[in-house]
Amino acid sequence: MTENDLSADVRRRVAERAADLCEYCRVQGRYSCDPLTIDHIIPRSIGGSNDPDNLALACFGCNQHKSRRTSAVDPLTEASTLLFHPRHQVWAEHFAWNEDYTIIFGLTPTGRATIEALHLNREGLVNLRRVLYAIGEHPPSPRESHRSE
Ligand SMILES: [Zn+2]
Repeated sequence: MTENDLSADVRRRVAERAADLCEYCRVQGRYSCDPLTIDHIIPRSIGGSNDPDNLALACFGCNQHKSRRTSAVDPLTEASTLLFHPRHQVWAEHFAWNEDYTIIFGLTPTGRATIEALHLNREGLVNLRRVLYAIGEHPPSPRESHRSE
């Protein structure tokens, strides 16, 4: 996914809007191994635009795993479902943390399919969350809640 045609100003506004968090896995830009990238929610290759409403801040890993997809299979129902759309949907309505904020759970078909497709619980992320949680730097917002069981 090329982002070369996006201006520095657009990139900065997308990053600020997302509070410097990957809008999928919630990794913080300042702790991410690679700089966060600009994701075209609807890929350019299938007609997605450079409009800010089609852009999301995403870490390199999430962007790579998402690739050209807009849908994926919900592992619970095995039905194809749309991936999480950061501009149209609210993260906390589709995802929740476990008790120590290391694992993301899907609350909906979209949440579950996105976790699978984008590998939102990949080992490096889980380890990073564990370390950051221990030093009080994760979750990114103290208002984030975990799933009550
Ligand atoms: Zn990510």
